[in-house]
Amino acid sequence: MIGAASYNAVEIDLKALRVNYEAVRSRVAPGIRIMAVVKADAYGHGLEAAAGAFAGAGADCFGVGTLEEGIRLRRAGLDGEVVLLLGFDPREAAEVVEYRLSPVVFAADGLEALSRLAADRGRQVGVHLKLDAGMGRFGVAPADLTRLAAIITGLPGLRLAGMMSHFPLADVPGAETRCREQWQLLQAGGAVCLPPAGVARPLLHMANSAALLRFPWAHGDLVRPGISLYGYSPLPVELAAAGLALQPAMSLRSRVLQVKMLPAGYGISYGHRYVTPAPTRLAVLPVGYADGYPRGVSGRAQVLLGGRRVPILGTICMNACMADVSALPAVQAGDEAVFLGRQGEEFIGADELADWHGTISYELLCRIGAMNQRLYT
Ligand code: PLP
Repeated sequence: MIGAASYNAVEIDLKALRVNYEAVRSRVAPGIRIMAVVKADAYGHGLEAAAGAFAGAGADCFGVGTLEEGIRLRRAGLDGEVVLLLGFDPREAAEVVEYRLSPVVFAADGLEALSRLAADRGRQVGVHLKLDAGMGRFGVAPADLTRLAAIITGLPGLRLAGMMSHFPLADVPGAETRCREQWQLLQAGGAVCLPPAGVARPLLHMANSAALLRFPWAHGDLVRPGISLYGYSPLPVELAAAGLALQPAMSLRSRVLQVKMLPAGYGISYGHRYVTPAPTRLAVLPVGYADGYPRGVSGRAQVLLGGRRVPILGTICMNACMADVSALPAVQAGDEAVFLGRQGEEFIGADELADWHGTISYELLCRIGAMNQRLYT
């Protein structure tokens, strides 16, 4: 007997990932490298599969969140540079060396030990020194950059592979001047933190998807797209002109569990927040907040059934929700329901779902991807 939960699957279109990579590549000059940001299990798309798709399309390196993600990529056979975007815990130094990972660095802690472990094995660990150019997140202040760069270049087991920062305002209309100033802070850092003679200068990198799309002057030596590779633009509608043709890669599909008629005046779901105004044909669907479909969209959400959009009625439950199929007499138990993605001519994207929930596509992709079985097509 197949349980209701196994009706649900997140489908990942690997071809869409490759197409998006190529679209991004077309915006970036040939000599500039691309780091595919695959942290958070590739924004919910599955780390190994997504990184494999980007590697196949030509990605130069990969940005992960944790040591564990870095190790997973190496165990999957990925060979390119893998950057630990959140830095490393000094207790993890041996694994950083063993799995040839390149940590982001924003403090001197653990650097000596890392260098010693690498040098003992005849290796050098590439590190990316991070400047806080105004994000207010990890990174060193401009005044500390030279000191930390000197520590790194003075350690034989380390190599200053990159100098980086992160834009906080690249998707904000009207913030271009501020972004330019932040980019110039990184450039100035790069100009003073020069490596010893004969050693390659570190790659300068700062551009996420929004900066990649809007600010060609900020591409530096390497760009770091995330969301655009998964098929979504980070830009608000006012800036949509700078966007690219992208293909959302994730969909959330399920099946109708039960269809039934309810009379007028019938309360639906917890709290009876919806009461049928007339006799209603109801489809019960095995998707709820335990599947990553947010309860907070109750009262606003729609789902695709029979190629049409229909409203979800009442409160979304842990493992179920109910849709109004009064206008779709042909819909029956076993029919496909699409909560995210395309069905026929209709499409519900992560941006729309995020809008109903007052959040951003990133959050929903991570959540829905993590909480469902993934199928790759
Ligand atoms: N670079 C860093 C350091 C990040 O943390 C992220 C994601 O938040 C990215 C690049 C990719 O950003 P986006 O998904 O907006 O392209």
